[in-house]
Amino acid sequence: METKTPSSNFIKTIVAEDLASGKVKEVVTRFPPEPNGYLHIGHAKSICLNFELADEFKGRTNLRFDDTNPVKEDVEYVESIKQDVQWLGFDWDGLFFASDYFGEMYERAIVLIRKGLAFVDDQTADQIRETRGTLNSPGIESPYRTRSVEENLELFSRMKAGEFADGQKVLRAKIDMASPNVNLRDPILYRVLHAHHHNTGDQWCIYPMYAFAHPLEDAIEGVTHSICTLEFEDQRPFYDWVIRECEMKWVPHQYEFARLNITNTVMSKRKLKQLVDEKAVDGWDDPRMPTISGLRRKGYTPEAIRAFCREIGVARSYGIVDERMLEHFIREDLKLKALRTMAVLQPLKVVITNYPEGEIEWLDAENNSENPEMGHRQIPFSREIYIERDDFMDNPPPKYFRLFPGNEVRLKHAYFIKCEEVIHDAEGNVVELRCTYDPETKSGSGFTGRKVKGTIHWVEATHAVPAQFRLYEPLITDEAEDDGQSFLEHLNPNSLEVLEGFVEQEMKDSAGGDKFQFFRHGYFNVDPKESTVGHPIFNRIVSLKSSFEVK
Ligand code: ATP
Ligand code: MG
Repeated sequence: METKTPSSNFIKTIVAEDLASGKVKEVVTRFPPEPNGYLHIGHAKSICLNFELADEFKGRTNLRFDDTNPVKEDVEYVESIKQDVQWLGFDWDGLFFASDYFGEMYERAIVLIRKGLAFVDDQTADQIRETRGTLNSPGIESPYRTRSVEENLELFSRMKAGEFADGQKVLRAKIDMASPNVNLRDPILYRVLHAHHHNTGDQWCIYPMYAFAHPLEDAIEGVTHSICTLEFEDQRPFYDWVIRECEMKWVPHQYEFARLNITNTVMSKRKLKQLVDEKAVDGWDDPRMPTISGLRRKGYTPEAIRAFCREIGVARSYGIVDERMLEHFIREDLKLKALRTMAVLQPLKVVITNYPEGEIEWLDAENNSENPEMGHRQIPFSREIYIERDDFMDNPPPKYFRLFPGNEVRLKHAYFIKCEEVIHDAEGNVVELRCTYDPETKSGSGFTGRKVKGTIHWVEATHAVPAQFRLYEPLITDEAEDDGQSFLEHLNPNSLEVLEGFVEQEMKDSAGGDKFQFFRHGYFNVDPKESTVGHPIFNRIVSLKSSFEVK
């Protein structure tokens, strides 16, 4: 696929200016996931943005696990995140864990206490929330706000030593309970939490809050441009306050961009985890999941995802991207790469009565009609073939050009066949067709005698390989996903359709991850987990056509 020159965006402009003015010598970005779930396509946008920005200006990007919340975090997530970032095609410069900085964060909190800018509060979480005020009214100062520096130092060290129960005490910044920015009303810096941490084990029983930890992490690593999503815009004053008052040597700056939303796509780790935990899907990498691992298993390529992220660009205003845009990019990527073969998803047997019994003939087939370099293959043809059940109708409506009694169609790469007789079972279902073929009409022979309006695909019966096909629809549609709580009740019952049919012998030994275009059906990926030699499983990545155009 053509790689487009990365288009400009407002963050790039800022970086270019900062380098030109000498404000920074080298751009340093980071991708900071919390290891509490698998990455989704929204994260891919952030990954591409951070890594490509640094690459373009010959800077560095760190992968940093923002693991300050031990209860929800797990090494399984750490490993999956590393794998996904690498699979997308990016190499991090530094690999860090926020939890490695717990010691330094603790020291910085002490700096604040010594300056009279932090205090230990005995109020409960509820009391703190209730006294925060509203957008229109100021908060109420804590009765513990006036504790002396000595008392605060002592209590904070006792918090660390494990003398208090969860929730009994917190460390709060002392800023301004009347600030119009609610985030500056004495935000919590540290909480007591007796929990095992995936990285630091039982070393700590106090943990820093995200808003306090994040700026420190950026400063410790020398990050120059700390890019986050727009929800954090109101946190920026506190971010800057932490850097300044903690007297960090390096001063990073935060920039916000709009998070990615896609139509009919659940884009929240919390909800995706719920789908996994409640077994509504077959794990985080279920091909219906918008996770990077789910998209990979479905058959998306890193190239397609990166091209998509480049196309959607980086904006500061919210928008929702059409899911067909993502599909457009995988079609573009596979168009010239994928072998074009035939698969019958819902087979109907056809006997060609005037074709000699026991004879097999090998027909020439192009591997990719748009890419001659992919060459040709030979496909078998004989007296018995399978066609798609949908390609025959007993009583067709007007303008139906496929098979019906007395009608003639073209078999792709082969001959014209004419339907002479229909065999029904006792219930009246069509079980077999008897057709005749015309040897004059062989594909590639230059036959011009007469025309037919329909071309259908088929697979020769004795060489056909039994295969499974998995077709997908959105797990949940936007119309259905109205209230956050009960979203699981709105699951699309048709999100997975499993069909058993046949593919050409060409695909008998295909391995997990191999991608094909099946004539008229779309692009498919060999399932990397469950496919077996002799009975391949194909996940549909995307159908062939869409009305969607990328402008
Ligand atoms: P979620 O809300 O899905 O749990 P998160 O923001 O809590 O996502 P993190 O692991 O904290 O997930 O995010 C890591 C990085 O990815 C952050 O910098 C975050 O801004 C970015 N990110 C997360 N979701 C999106 C999205 N939909 N679009 C763009 N960037 C995103
Ligand atoms: Mg988060």
